[in-house]
Formats: sequence, C-alpha cells, structure tokens
Amino acid sequence: MSEAIAFLPPRPEVLSRRAEILADLKELVPPGRLVEDRNALVPFETDGFIAYRRRPLAVVLPETTAQVAAVMKYCHRYGIPVVPRGAGTSLSGGAIPQEDAVVLGLSAMTRILEVDYANRCATVQAGVTNLAISDAVGADGYFYAPDPSSQLACTIGGNIAMNSGGAHCLKYGVTTNNLLGVKLVLVDGTIIDLGGKHLDAEGYDLLGLVCGSEGQLGIVTEATVRLLAKPEGARPVLFGFDSAEAAGSCVADVIGAGIIPVAIEFMDKPAIEICEAFAKAGYPLDVEALLIVEVEGSDAEMDAMLAAIVEIAKRHGVKTVRESQSATEAALIWKGRKSAFGATGRIADYICMDGTVPLSQLAYVLRKTSEIIDRYGLRVANVFHAGDGNMHPLILYNINDPDDAAKAEAAGMEILKLCVDAGGCLTGEHGVGIEKRDLMLHQFTQVDLDQQMAVRSAFDADWILNPSKVFPLEGRG
Ligand SMILES: Cc1cc2nc3c(=O)[nH]c(=O)nc-3n(C[C@H](O)[C@H](O)[C@H](O)COP(=O)(O)OP(=O)(O)OC[C@H]3O[C@@H](n4cnc5c(N)ncnc54)[C@H](O)[C@@H]3O)c2cc1C
Repeated sequence: MSEAIAFLPPRPEVLSRRAEILADLKELVPPGRLVEDRNALVPFETDGFIAYRRRPLAVVLPETTAQVAAVMKYCHRYGIPVVPRGAGTSLSGGAIPQEDAVVLGLSAMTRILEVDYANRCATVQAGVTNLAISDAVGADGYFYAPDPSSQLACTIGGNIAMNSGGAHCLKYGVTTNNLLGVKLVLVDGTIIDLGGKHLDAEGYDLLGLVCGSEGQLGIVTEATVRLLAKPEGARPVLFGFDSAEAAGSCVADVIGAGIIPVAIEFMDKPAIEICEAFAKAGYPLDVEALLIVEVEGSDAEMDAMLAAIVEIAKRHGVKTVRESQSATEAALIWKGRKSAFGATGRIADYICMDGTVPLSQLAYVLRKTSEIIDRYGLRVANVFHAGDGNMHPLILYNINDPDDAAKAEAAGMEILKLCVDAGGCLTGEHGVGIEKRDLMLHQFTQVDLDQQMAVRSAFDADWILNPSKVFPLEGRG
C-alpha cells in the first residue's frame, strides 16, 4: 500500500467528541441506520481505489431526504466533515473518508418514485442502481442510456457526482446529457430542487454544475433522468488488428468520417486474453488489438453503417471482422468487455487510469503509454472507450509490495500528464477524487483553480463536504 497521497489532518475537536456525535446521530436516522462498531466500519474505509483507506468516524444510512437534511444540518452546525457515498465503486477514491468524517451512505434510498413515459423520464432516489432504471422500464421498450461497466452496483447519485459515462455514451452522451433534475440537500440541510422534467434549465445551469461536482456542492437525494426508446436492433461487431496503433488510427478515421456508432471499445492483447479467459466471448486471440463496434437501428441502417466502417478498417489492415450472429453472442461480447476490470482483478491488483485524449492522438498516446510502463518494469492492459478518446490503462502491480505500488502510481501519473500534454484531460469519467487531485495544476492554472474553488466555497464555505478531494490541499481558501 502506498501513502503518496495525503489527506487533511483530522480535526481533534471532532475526534474527541465521537461518543457524543454518535449519540446525536442515532436520533436522526431510523434504528439500525447508524454504523458505529469499528469492525462494521471496515467496508466503508475505501472504495474502488483500494490502495488507500481511512476508517471514518461513523456511517449513517438515511432512508429519506428529510433524514439526510437533518444529518447535514447537524454536521454543519458542529463542523463535522461529511463524505457522501453511493455503492463505493469510485476508481479515483472519491468516496474514501477521512478519520473525522461521517460517511453519508445513500444506499438505503432505493425507491423508483415515478416513471413518466409521457415526459420520457423517471424520478428515482439516489441509491437506485444504474441498471435498475433500465430494468424497470425495459419491458415497456425504454432504457436509461449511460452504462458504466459497474452499472449493476453503482448508484445514480454516484453517477451524477462523477458525471459517469460508459460504452454507449459515444452516441447518447454521459450522465449530464441524460439528467433532467435533482433534489439536493445543501451543506446546512436546506433542500432545493434543480431542473425538473423540462429540457432546459431556468436561470443559471446549476444542475450542470452539480453534475460532476464529486459530492462537494450538496447531497443528491433524488434524480429525474431521461428515458430513451430502445432501438429497433443492435449489433456488436469485432474488428481485430495487428497493432494498437492501427486500431487507434481506425477509430479516429471512423469518427472523422462523420460515422457515430453507438459504441467503439478498444482492448489490447493483454486485455483480450484476460477478458476471453473470463467470459469466453469468442474474442480473436491472434490479434494485437480489438475494437468492439456496435451499430444500431433497422437492418438496412446497420448494414450501411457497417459497410462504411469495414471500408475504413480495411485501410488500416484489419485482420478479423466478425459480426455477432445472435442475441446470446452479442450479450457475451458485452459481458467480456463489461467484466474487464473484474476479470483483471483475478490475475493482479491494478490501478485503473482514466484520461481523455483527442482521437487523433490515440495511437501516439498508446505507444507512449507502453514506453512508460516498460520503463517502470510493469505490465499494463488497455481496455477503454475509444470512440470518446477515454483511455483506461489498467496498471498491474502487487498491492502488498510498497515499491511496486509506488512505481504503479508514478507510472499512472506520467500517463495522465501525457494525456494532458497530448491535448486531452486528466479525467474522462472517473472523476478527480484523491487520485488525480495533486495533478490538477498540470491541467489548470492557479487562476482557473481559484475560480473553481470559489464556486465550491459558495456552496460550502467551510469545506466540510467531501474534503481532501479534487483540489490540491495547499490551494484551499
Ligand atoms: C468494475 C468497475 C467498472 C467501472 N466502470 C465505469 C465506467 O464504465 N464508466 C464510469 O464512468 N465509471 C466506471 N466506474 C467507476 C464508478 O463505478 C463510477 O464513478 C460510479 O458513478 C460511482 O458510483 P457509486 O454509487 O459507486 O459512487 P461512490 O463510489 O460511492 O461515490 C463516488 C463519488 O460520488 C459522491 N457521491 C455518491 N453519492 C452521492 C450523492 N447521492 N450525492 C452527492 N455525492 C455523491 C461520493 O462522495 C464520491 O465522490 C467503474 C468502477 C468499477 C469498480
């Protein structure tokens, strides 16, 4: 385990009052919804960024917006830090607490409050999982588009805080493009509504601000999200290449030609082997890089789009083109891709990096990534949303070896800087959290950051909401 990333020191005046705070919080949530036992707190010490952990002061699991508001009002009054948490799948350490923080878990708020087909939207509590929304409306021919690979577990509140994406966001956009409104509990317990069922925001676009704010502007307790009608048909197709560079250049040319499939996912050879061993999806094992391209629409629309993509792929020396022949095969292809992180976890610990680059730089950044990884003597598997230029090098290492962990972190930081230097940015969909916090000045000037911190301070003057995240510690106002 590495300790390169610092947390703010815990506030002694909060730590010393733990017993009193626990007694007070117990009054604010239903019986059984306060976690105080030190062993029971262990699952809340970390999230998907497992290299770091801190035991929180306590965890509360409210069931209603009113209970969330009561907890916020109390913590605000006594200056107690609060870390909102959905399912704890964040890969940037966004939900890792610090020792003086109350974790405000939304996972007990799992009710789908309204499905409104006339307005093509659904209103759900923040703890509803991403997939549960599509499951609830699927039989009626609708779905919720953003589809993070963690969608079975991650919550809509976490998706909003991280502005999460997924394989199918190339065509449909990420969370912010599919979010219509939220109920938000402010730091002092005030409850406000932003947006609604209508398409555009009234006044300032505060909804846009909250989406991606990593739990630092307020607690989302309800969300109204857009529902889309399912397409007539969809077909994933496998394109195998002799080099990662050829696959990367093919992606740039497909998008450059004005063709927007629903998804273009990339896997390099290590990722193909890892995913195939897990999912038996029929991925070709004799290629260096694989693209999963999904098209949708009527048969004629899909045929026309595919023909155009195949022509471009041929120009890049495509070696294998295989269309899924059945719904079962299509499901297996996606199972392999969506299980990539879990399947990688079967063979090694890993840090999942998340940077975005302009498509024209994909091939260059892939080549440079390999050079960085080789220099550190590490291994990498690349599996990512290529159509969005959103790269996910999974750097394999041994979490129990501090040297290995330090090397993995250092290599990851170099890769993220490479993304920025290539004209991209530090994050595609996993947020900044603690992981990328200390690189923010590589992306932004101090003046840029000061503006962002001023916005944060306007919502939370004392910075008690999700402290230690997003902004370099020394830069706080
Ligand atoms: C195997 C795996 C695959 C993944 N694939 C993808 C992917 O394809 N695309 C993608 O975008 N991400 C992906 N992720 C990352 C992660 O799933 C997303 O960031 C997700 O949105 C986090 O949701 P969560 O409910 O787990 O939130 P948490 O991890 O609990 O919290 C994430 C952040 O949101 C804040 N937060 C949580 N709930 C609320 C709330 N109600 N109000 C305010 N703030 C809140 C937290 O404080 C924290 O900062 C993946 C993760 C894993 C482990």
